[in-house]
Amino acid sequence: MKISDKPVDCIKGVGPTRLKLLKKLGISRVKDLLYHFPRDYMDKGNIVDISRVKNGQLCTIAAMVDGRPVDIRPRKGLVITKVAVKDKTGRAFAVWYNQPFVKKQLLSGKSYLFSGKIQIKYGEIQMVNCKIFNPSSNKTFSRIEPVYPLTEKLTQAILRKLIAEAYKLCIDEVEEVLPDAILKKNRLPGIKTAFKNIHFPQTLEAAQRAIKRFKYQEFFLLQLALIKQKQLFKNKRGICFKDKLNIGEFEKILDFSLTNSQKKVILEIKKDMTSNKPMNRLIQGDVGSGKTIVAIAAILLAFKNNYQSAFMAPTEVLAWQQYQKIKKILSSFNITIEYLAGSLAKNKKESILKDLRTGKIDVIVGTHSLIQENISFNNLGLVVTDEEHRFGVRQRALLRRKGINPDVLVMSATPIPRTLALALYGDLDISIIDELPPNRKHVKTYMVKHHLRKRVYDFVAREVDKGRQGYVICPLIEDTQSANWKSVENIEKFIINSGYTFSFKILHGKMKAQEKEETLQKFKEGKIQVLISTSVVEVGIDVSNATVMVVENAERFGLAQLHQIRGRIGRNNFESHCILICETDNKETLKKLKILVNNNDGFYISQKDMELRGPGELLGIKQHGLPEFKIADILKDELLLKKVVRDVEAYVKDY
Ligand code: ADP
Ligand code: MG
Repeated sequence: MKISDKPVDCIKGVGPTRLKLLKKLGISRVKDLLYHFPRDYMDKGNIVDISRVKNGQLCTIAAMVDGRPVDIRPRKGLVITKVAVKDKTGRAFAVWYNQPFVKKQLLSGKSYLFSGKIQIKYGEIQMVNCKIFNPSSNKTFSRIEPVYPLTEKLTQAILRKLIAEAYKLCIDEVEEVLPDAILKKNRLPGIKTAFKNIHFPQTLEAAQRAIKRFKYQEFFLLQLALIKQKQLFKNKRGICFKDKLNIGEFEKILDFSLTNSQKKVILEIKKDMTSNKPMNRLIQGDVGSGKTIVAIAAILLAFKNNYQSAFMAPTEVLAWQQYQKIKKILSSFNITIEYLAGSLAKNKKESILKDLRTGKIDVIVGTHSLIQENISFNNLGLVVTDEEHRFGVRQRALLRRKGINPDVLVMSATPIPRTLALALYGDLDISIIDELPPNRKHVKTYMVKHHLRKRVYDFVAREVDKGRQGYVICPLIEDTQSANWKSVENIEKFIINSGYTFSFKILHGKMKAQEKEETLQKFKEGKIQVLISTSVVEVGIDVSNATVMVVENAERFGLAQLHQIRGRIGRNNFESHCILICETDNKETLKKLKILVNNNDGFYISQKDMELRGPGELLGIKQHGLPEFKIADILKDELLLKKVVRDVEAYVKDY
């Protein structure tokens, strides 16, 4: 075994305790230490005037201790040691938490170098937990010091030591992973140089070049894997469907005309399905752009070719609804459509399984119960997964394997900007529906403080009086002691106590499947006027008579999620209103919600959401089975990513 693949405790200084701590940082093998990259660098030779420091800056100041250090004990277990320092240009404070012993290193009236991070707080310039150097001392450290991401009880010094040790042990056996031509073309350092310069740089420029190289490497390896995956499919023989779907005729069975965008995407799908390569296509479109219909067209084409289709949705509520919809739209055909979910009675399930095997069922709609082992198809020709980010790559693959290279259609829930889509779904071809059906009214969105709650619900009551319906979304099902957020139960009580006369029902994930279906069905039929729910209605639910949406504790939801939630209304040509009730005064949060008030473009909103929370959170990168980037950032390094996408394409062609 190579040293780099050995467990990290083969390094001197790593015992059981540190092994655990390192694990928290994602470090378990020696190699992982090399890939534990600095989050920043401190340039100790770069001495900055106090008058020029900026908040958050990592720097060194040369200053004289101006007075005696004092210990402040604001509470038990906390000692803050603080001392004033000054240079020719200004005054600052060096501050240490629970390190009262630093006092011994300092003499009033003497000058030192203080290295650390500037914090401008309460109008004071502070340098917190900084290091002290004697300007005359010969104890030279490298001038540029890496600053690593830490975890509790692991210090910079320990990590630096361990990383240096790991470097010594295995730098010789490290192998280059990027092709030579790519390195040359992009003027990137080789991997050994890059490791050296990212951890022990002589200059900041050298560090920057090393960083760029590793970012490039992360993008490159992922892109290469995705493209290889894509080619793998392209080389397989898929089903060659006969073109038995005329878009004009398909339109006749609908009670609306397709948008041009929908037609364009259906054409792309037809082209894929009638070719002898397997389709592997992602449909992106804003909420309400009408992705389901496009999938139904594909299902119809498969059916006309005597192939079975499977349609997988992430929740039972959504699967049930899509089942109803597909059945209704295709009702004029002699087509057998069934619903399968974990909650079905055993004998019903068994008969469905049998009919799938014998080919009696043409279309099966369900949750991930569709990928269970005991399910097999007679001739599965098309696989559709709806609201993709809830499923991982693996689940998609499992469903695909139920047929012999069936065509695959993936419908994304959260539309993301094109470059990102390319980066994360490089194994798929992408279609975009970039147009909403006509006559859609903009959803008017408001932010309201919680003390106006009564007026908000009065407004809901008036909408209901006009014959419309509404949703209330809460972050919790029941009240808890730990959080004072609004719960479904809490709002139910509020509505009863306020004497509203509209009919309402609650809906949440803990209810029995049948109860959920019934509630949703009644809401669809208009028998329930207001649905009080958790975010289970976030994706997919489609009741076009609903025109008002109240979101309780809106600050608790992500932007893209709120946009999805809001997408439940505005599905017809009535004026629709979304009211975000906030229980916070936090300026940042309110600013964030303002983005929703001012925008209706899902692509833009998800971009903003990613900027605020990072892409991992929004896209569930781990769920995708994709590696999380250690150093690259798909938003900040978008230009580099674009470059890599082009490079990999060219590279694969030449290869
Ligand atoms: P999403 O893209 O969010 O999944 P859906 O497929 O649920 O959207 O469609 C939203 C609603 O719009 C549905 O009620 C659907 O029947 C309707 N719809 C779809 N396409 C059109 C169209 N071209 N014109 C009018 N209504 C449409
Ligand atoms: Mg949908």
